[in-house]
Amino acid sequence: MSAVPLRNNKAVAAASRSVTVLGATGSIGDSTMDLLRASRDRYRVEALTANSNVQALASLAKEFGARFAAIADPARLGELKDALSGTRVECGAGESAVIEAAARPADWVMAAVSGAAGLKPALAAVDRGATVALANKECLVCAGDFFMQRAARAGACILPADSEHNALFQALGSGNREELVRVIITASGGPFRTWAARDIERATLAQALKHPNWSMGQKITIDSASMMNKGLEVIEASYLFTLTPDEIDVLVHPQSIIHGMVEFSDRSVVAQLGTPDMRTPIAHCLGWPDRITGPATKLDLAKIGQLTFESPDFERFPGLRLAYDALRAGGGATTVFNAANEVAVAAFIAGQIRFGAIARLVEATLQDWTRSGNLSPLSSADDAITVDQVARNRAATLLPQIASKAS
Ligand code: NDP
Repeated sequence: MSAVPLRNNKAVAAASRSVTVLGATGSIGDSTMDLLRASRDRYRVEALTANSNVQALASLAKEFGARFAAIADPARLGELKDALSGTRVECGAGESAVIEAAARPADWVMAAVSGAAGLKPALAAVDRGATVALANKECLVCAGDFFMQRAARAGACILPADSEHNALFQALGSGNREELVRVIITASGGPFRTWAARDIERATLAQALKHPNWSMGQKITIDSASMMNKGLEVIEASYLFTLTPDEIDVLVHPQSIIHGMVEFSDRSVVAQLGTPDMRTPIAHCLGWPDRITGPATKLDLAKIGQLTFESPDFERFPGLRLAYDALRAGGGATTVFNAANEVAVAAFIAGQIRFGAIARLVEATLQDWTRSGNLSPLSSADDAITVDQVARNRAATLLPQIASKAS
């Protein structure tokens, strides 16, 4: 049985829920806390986590009367204890404390830690059969099959919080798996959609951080500019909904109003639309299987006037092609894709490589991995973390060579 419920099941609607937010101080965390703030009587906060932002974490924990607050950086425990002194909020530090936060008995967990660090905490929530709103795409990109199998075994319910996957989740309910022809994930095209390849090559950090439609964390904004994010989403969709690469298409749609579409055998295409605001898919996950009131601006199509579409350009945005290659290669290649991209983005932010070199480093690391012939399926979180670490080391080794080579 799939861990993603493809038909709404009103029977499991909860009147009031306890919730935990992993990555509460980030961009998704912020949107989630905003929704919780608007419905305080409906939700009780069990646990909140952050990496190093003690003050924001403590302030949220106090505001929401959380039972537990965890900071991943172990050196900040003293600071967190001080910030929470005089309150009833328990606290802990280090990776184990973040995992403990996820393992505590909350009905609904938002998994919004950024990067591969989100895998173990999300698994801790999955293992106790929680309803998990999954924003952290790395859980699927790094350990997809294994993550979904473990969720199905534990009876966990995975609700896709990423806007495109949430759109597909909503549209998929219109038919059966056998009736599905393909899914279409839309992409804004990012800030470099109309740029020539030579300009993309030399794009600066400030330019990469200017997303035309969405307000998001730094890493995902850079990934949107390179379209690596769309590649990660293709991989995410494949694991979430058990789709082959050929069943997933990407369509550039600069207005970001249609987030995802599903084509069925009778040629009906069912789409989900909304203004580009992450609070809408998060509200869908938070209310599921009911619908709650969302704070996003009402969609006014007459005012928008035109919705336009383009095919993605795999030449100017090679990251998208690499994601399909990794998905087809299987056996940890998507883990390698993600790890190499994280190293490349960090190097770009640090000014060590050009924007265009991000995809080159990912490609070189993937080629290295494929040549090694090490393509057996991942069977545990530790397997995924080992491959992730090996790929990071390999990408770091290849970095100087890639940095010195201009395109
Ligand atoms: P942010 O960088 O804004 O926030 C990340 C959160 O995770 C923060 O709370 C951060 O804490 C915490 N964190 C970072 N590193 C660690 C770590 N090693 N251990 C524990 N906690 C950590 O990211 P976003 O909110 O943008 O994204 C979160 C996830 O959601 C990503 O996987 C992203 O791809 C996905 N996503 C995001 C979307 C968006 O619109 N932002 C859309 C769809 C998916 P601190 O504040 O202390 O650093």
